Amino acid sequence: MRIGIVGTGYIGLVTGTCFAEMGHDVLCIDVDEAKIAALKQGRCPIYEPGLEELIKRNLEEERLAFTTSLDETVQRSLVIFITVGTPEDRDGSADLAVVYQVAQGIGKAMEGYRIIVDKSTVPVGTAEKVRQAIAGQTEHPFDVVSNPEFLKEGAAIEDFMRPDRIVIGADDARALGIMKELYSPFVRTGRPILEMDVKSAEMTKYAANAMLAARISFMNEIANLCELLGADAEVVRQGIGSDSRIGFSYLFPGIGYGGSCFPKDVRALVKSAEEVGYDFKILKAVDAVNDHQKRLLTGKIQAQFGSDLRDHKIAIWGLSFKPKTDDIREAPSRTIIDRLLEMGAKLHVYDPEGMDAIRKVYGDSLEYAVKNYHALEGADALVLVTEWPEFRRPDFERMGKLMRQKVVFDGRNIYDPKTMKKYGFTYYGIGRSA
Ligand code: NAD
Repeated sequence: MRIGIVGTGYIGLVTGTCFAEMGHDVLCIDVDEAKIAALKQGRCPIYEPGLEELIKRNLEEERLAFTTSLDETVQRSLVIFITVGTPEDRDGSADLAVVYQVAQGIGKAMEGYRIIVDKSTVPVGTAEKVRQAIAGQTEHPFDVVSNPEFLKEGAAIEDFMRPDRIVIGADDARALGIMKELYSPFVRTGRPILEMDVKSAEMTKYAANAMLAARISFMNEIANLCELLGADAEVVRQGIGSDSRIGFSYLFPGIGYGGSCFPKDVRALVKSAEEVGYDFKILKAVDAVNDHQKRLLTGKIQAQFGSDLRDHKIAIWGLSFKPKTDDIREAPSRTIIDRLLEMGAKLHVYDPEGMDAIRKVYGDSLEYAVKNYHALEGADALVLVTEWPEFRRPDFERMGKLMRQKVVFDGRNIYDPKTMKKYGFTYYGIGRSA
């Protein structure tokens, strides 16, 4: 099937590449000329495990191509996915300006029946507005479908290829049939394609992210209370996660959720609720708890060293919002860096994949380590922010020798407090007494 993907970012690129891998004929369009030029050479502009190999293979097999022409994409594709960003607007709602601009562009370029798929995360009611935007530009027939995406950065290919479920919101039988045909290679293991009305599909995406964010904030509050009462949040996590009604996913105490989805989607759902006169109390609390949690470690650092850190050098391991991605959007590392810079600290940072992105934001205000241990030279403390596998079992003796003071703030509870004590470190975790 001929597919067009509009917006070749984290979601569009994975979607397009995976459809090509299943034999579909895919053209991806983006307004970012440098990105498209790199992709045409088989260079992947983002870090996502396994993605570059798939792009190269499908480019060579001529099932995947890249362009900056929306017209060309619309003219040759039966199904056109909108996968542009829907960032947070100033008032907390989702900024849909680019979605509607793309919808109009699709309408103008159409030369026959098309299915336009909202894959970007968009509030309930957006598909109807997309329909109006297209209808204002064309006489040709078309359908608008909602097909939200649930993949996780860092495991995007696996998630897309073997999804837990595929949600398709469609009001038209023909469009639904074509969408099911398109996705049929991905559900051969029996995972369901859930057909529903368009509005419920739009809501399903927000409800899923809000639920996961709520679990994280809930566990973080349990952890904060554990710390005050002398319990150990890690043991409590195992205690409740073992309950089959609860499970272990998204239950790690830490320094708050980040990334390009949970923060903005939680706030956009609060805003959508407000617009219809509903006060979404739980989600407001989820957001507030997360905000507090992102500042937790700097509070501990202040308690240890005071608020004037001009004579202190602090090492930071992990900058991306989670392991196995280079994405630093709304990453907790940024809240921590901003606060430590305010306090005058010299920061020596390291991340396996997020260095280029963080350098674009902070320039010369930070020192950038070439290897993780380099960051520790002469440091008064290490702040572990992102739990990349390579940080999990470091050489503690070597660390102790490199550091000026042996203090570790572990934002992800990846170190064992007893081991840290054995090696002579002052250790702070989340939800564990110091
Ligand atoms: P992104 O910023 O990585 O990608 C968006 C792309 O759209 C960029 O490459 C940008 O250059 C391009 N673009 C902007 N204007 C355009 C235009 N007029 N025409 C064509 N291309 C244009 O964003 P993303 O992380 O891929 O997210 C896209 C959507 O998917 C968002 O709604 C997001 O909430 C949703 N989503 C993201 C994830 C995730 O993990 N990143 C997961 C599920 C859903």
